[in-house]
Amino acid sequence: MAENSLPPHSRRMEAGHRLSVLVPRPFDGPLDYRSDRPLAPGTLVRVPLGRQELTGCVWDSEPAHLPADFRPASRGKTFAFAKLRPITAVLEHVPPLPDDLRQFIDWVAAYGLSAPGMVLAIALRVPAQAGSMKPLMGWVRKPGPLPDTLRLTPARRAVLEALEQGGPGTTAMLAAQSGASAAVIRGLANAGVLEECLMEASSSAGQADPDHAPPTLSAEQAEAAGALVAGVEERAFNVTLLEGVTGSGKTEVYFEAVAACLRQGRQVLVLLPEIVLTAQWTDRFERRFGIRPAVWHSELGQKTRRETWCAIAEGRQQVVVGARSALFLPFARLGLVVVDEEHENTYKQEEGVLYHGRDMAIVRARLVQGAVILVSATPSMETLVNVQKGRFRHEVLEARHGTARMPEISLIDMKEHGPERGQFLSPLLCESIEARMKAGEQSMLFLNRRGYAPMTLCRACGHRLQCPHCSAWMVEHRRRRILACHHCEYTQPLISACSSCGAQDSLVPIGPGVERIHEEAQARFPDARLLSMASDTLTSPTAMEEAVRKIASREVDLIIGTQVVAKGWHFPDLTLVGVVDADLGLGGGDLRAAERTMQLLHQVAGRAGRGTKPGQVMLQSYAGDHPVMKALLANDFISFMEQEAAQRRPGFWPPYGRLAAVIVSAPKERQAEELARLLAMHAPRGEGIQVLGPAPAPLALLRDRYRYRLLLRTRRDIALQPLLRRWLDGAPRKNDARIDVDVDPVSFM
Ligand code: ADP
Ligand code: ZN
Repeated sequence: MAENSLPPHSRRMEAGHRLSVLVPRPFDGPLDYRSDRPLAPGTLVRVPLGRQELTGCVWDSEPAHLPADFRPASRGKTFAFAKLRPITAVLEHVPPLPDDLRQFIDWVAAYGLSAPGMVLAIALRVPAQAGSMKPLMGWVRKPGPLPDTLRLTPARRAVLEALEQGGPGTTAMLAAQSGASAAVIRGLANAGVLEECLMEASSSAGQADPDHAPPTLSAEQAEAAGALVAGVEERAFNVTLLEGVTGSGKTEVYFEAVAACLRQGRQVLVLLPEIVLTAQWTDRFERRFGIRPAVWHSELGQKTRRETWCAIAEGRQQVVVGARSALFLPFARLGLVVVDEEHENTYKQEEGVLYHGRDMAIVRARLVQGAVILVSATPSMETLVNVQKGRFRHEVLEARHGTARMPEISLIDMKEHGPERGQFLSPLLCESIEARMKAGEQSMLFLNRRGYAPMTLCRACGHRLQCPHCSAWMVEHRRRRILACHHCEYTQPLISACSSCGAQDSLVPIGPGVERIHEEAQARFPDARLLSMASDTLTSPTAMEEAVRKIASREVDLIIGTQVVAKGWHFPDLTLVGVVDADLGLGGGDLRAAERTMQLLHQVAGRAGRGTKPGQVMLQSYAGDHPVMKALLANDFISFMEQEAAQRRPGFWPPYGRLAAVIVSAPKERQAEELARLLAMHAPRGEGIQVLGPAPAPLALLRDRYRYRLLLRTRRDIALQPLLRRWLDGAPRKNDARIDVDVDPVSFM
């Protein structure tokens, strides 16, 4: 927005500057405002919108970095300058959003067909509150001699001495140090002796030391680490898959790449699939680098967020570990992004702005010419195909670290060795748990299902308790004494009479949830010390930390948990893992059901035998012949994925083709169905393009909205976004019906 680029007459006409400002609202692009001085893109400003005032960001007039296919059609008409509203304020003390972050925001929006303002909102979650965000201001001595006219009272002298000795300070700090009042300090400022400065955040980070406590790597580890370090030292975009069995030391190995990046003075972002894992991770990081990294997730307090945000923007904070939203932090010099457990579905943001954290990590790194390390024991098909095509590099760790060996996996055929009616643990599994307890070792029971029972049935009339707002069963949570829908927030107290026929005490729980397994284990092993780990009982990182501490200090014999126990935990005395229902997750016919089950079970199996004692894994299954079970028993992940690939390739299913889900929803079923049919009629056609549906979604009713799904599938060489844009831009916006787009869907519900 250089002033002299305007023709002379318009300069006269336009007393001021036209600014593009992106605001956190669902518009197609930035809005135009007026400012009396030019402001660089990235500057955060307050602007009026209707009767509100918002924080927005001065935006680039053209998103030139986007591939042409991606670019939204138009940005609407240009308003006459005279009609533009002026910006209200400039947030002088908030660091501007860097170029690459703005590009990233445009990219994420264009890829997922989201409104750029809503993507910006993720990045602004902190400075958006800047209205209430008072930067911590302090005072410094203005350079130069004291003015001759200054009356140097003892109080004033004391303030100047405090400054000289203690460096810059806030009014409160200086007053405390000097004994002078705030008025004295203000007086000095008015006299031109002091000037204002931005105080560094109090948690101003020390420096991580790349050489603090490096491990001695095995030959295999050293080789992989060397390759990762080389990737960082290239200072150019590159992606490496670090594949290694559970316990092979993947973390230690990628820490070497982190060290290399620190030596370059660049920043590192490490993404974890679950925030509960951060505590164990930060401990490990501290042992290796002598300092705690910054943590970023939704549960941080506002003050910590603000400080962390600024420290990252100013480059003071070198390492951040966090959830996928950390991708939107304003890094000053990002050099490396690590995506740990890259195959995890939790990387997909399923609400609001949809994006896949792993894929967007790659985009983010490309924009800063940084390196990416994807880490997994069971990489996703997407990543494996990228390795095969030579787009990603590949480093493999074959062996567990030290003397630990891979656990022995066996299958309990539940058709033959099932438990008694109403119970869920096979006698074979119970015997093994007993034996481990006698030997003083720990065991874990895994069931990926929260609550007591997934369904409640009336014995008298056959009625099943259902959510009134969703097509889903109400799940009993006995400890919390409620029935809960796992798809919306609806809960109700436990009831004793059937809500349909009124029969008393006729309701029976069907099937097990993790609470029910806990109950059964309690009855079966009355002397065992049990610990439950489920996402709804261990809600905070602190609660998780406490659980982990108990396990590590051997206060627990048997851990019973949902998928949170499957994650990257390292419990050396845990030697037995029992999977209560290995078949769970195979049903449903979702594209990735088998892949996902395989990954989850492999990961939970990997918790066993990580120390010196050998581990054992028992899978309770009714489907011993299923390829997933066979692959797990043979520990042959590669052939399994090859079979999977062979199934997906011919029909160009991802990753061999592209997929976008279009979800039509409305308060009335007919409205949803009609719009879905209309969309299908106008669906894009052509060679290599296919539209499947519409069909009622598996979750046909969600939060009182009826849902229909369509799937757009294209060959890999055809970009989805322009097709989607053309298709949906023409769609009628009818009554309360809504169209949501999910590019690269993970959930098919
Ligand atoms: P993974 O992430 O592959 O499951 P980890 O990185 O958690 O494996 O390593 C498993 C355990 O082995 C951890 O306790 C880790 O500290 C230890 N370990 C791995 N490699 C080394 C090494 N070279 N020196 C010392 N300890 C190591
Ligand atoms: Zn519901």
